[in-house]
Amino acid sequence: MPAFWTEADWDDHEMVEVVHDRDSGLTAIIALHSTHLGPGAGGTRFWHYATPENAMRDALRLSRGMSFKNAMAGLPMGGGKAVVLLDENRRKTPDMLAAFGDAVEALGGQYVTAEDVGASEADMVAISKRTTHVCGLPADEGDAGGDPGPFTAMGIFHGIKAAVAHKLEKDSVEGVRVALQGCGSVGGGVARLLAKEGAQLVVSDIHHDRAEELAREIGGEAVSAEAIMGVECEVFSPNALGAILDDEGIARLDCRIVAGGANNQLARPEHGRQLHERGILYAPDYVINAGGIINVSMEYLCRQHGEPCDINEVRKRIAQIPGRLEAVWQESDAGGRPSNEVADAMAMELIGRG
Ligand code: NAD
Repeated sequence: MPAFWTEADWDDHEMVEVVHDRDSGLTAIIALHSTHLGPGAGGTRFWHYATPENAMRDALRLSRGMSFKNAMAGLPMGGGKAVVLLDENRRKTPDMLAAFGDAVEALGGQYVTAEDVGASEADMVAISKRTTHVCGLPADEGDAGGDPGPFTAMGIFHGIKAAVAHKLEKDSVEGVRVALQGCGSVGGGVARLLAKEGAQLVVSDIHHDRAEELAREIGGEAVSAEAIMGVECEVFSPNALGAILDDEGIARLDCRIVAGGANNQLARPEHGRQLHERGILYAPDYVINAGGIINVSMEYLCRQHGEPCDINEVRKRIAQIPGRLEAVWQESDAGGRPSNEVADAMAMELIGRG
């Protein structure tokens, strides 16, 4: 493995730990980008990586993203992320989860984990047998915690409304045509909330039956996964993969706004400039998709203080996402700078690296 501080994704990370437990076969990387604002919070990804370098890159990039996301969400949390390197069959065992819990506990609360790709609530429960520095645990009715997806969707819904107000000067999404990529936990939630307010939805998923089912439920239209980025619409909402906004993807867009929940939507930072030059309003992904981390961080902080955590407090914080987006767009408009560059600069300032 090459030295990670020579990697392009190395960004003065405070700590990177490689965990290997012979007995359980666990190999994991825990990356702490910044603890300036609080313990580094971010989920654990369980994935089969083609090479260890890919795993390291993912951990570095994702933990930096969490520093930015948590800072812009106004949370007293820093940025961290863990990746667990699974074999080709993506086999994880109870012993691995226990060993991973021990590794998190050994960091004494500097890193707080939660679900990410390949992890479930049940995995977090298993990890919680070995450490208290875990969130995304099952929640009682009316309490913060549990599946972050619906809360992420709620924040994106508010964010799309803010984008429509800013760019189209409309105070409602009624009649606004939205092309939505990805009908999973986040995309499905966003589509339902938008449809309830009268938006016209065109949806797609690589599992086309999923898109058709959602379209039937909300009275929208389903198109193929290949077609969605070229659909004529006011809002394109990516809620599936990252890096879809590359040279080719941006050239195909026929929209005025890009606002969705997928992480790392821009293939490279200069693609934010391309959107800006095309006059497309971009909602920086880590600002608009913070609803889930707001939910689980509140759960964690309340539990640490031994207090109940009212879900209304979570909703109140998620409702602040539009204000943060608006601040980014106003500065972008005033300075003629792409919104992703403005958001990155704001986040760097907040984590003491301005
Ligand atoms: P999910 O697995 O529930 O749903 C993803 C959906 O996208 C699936 O239905 C999948 O079939 C579909 N998909 C995959 N590739 C596609 C393609 N090329 N075209 C169309 N559809 C495609 O995942 P999710 O939890 O809804 O997360 C979606 C995105 O949002 C991811 O990028 C994730 O990192 C990001 N995100 C999720 C959360 C959360 O709380 N779940 C929080 C922040 C960011």
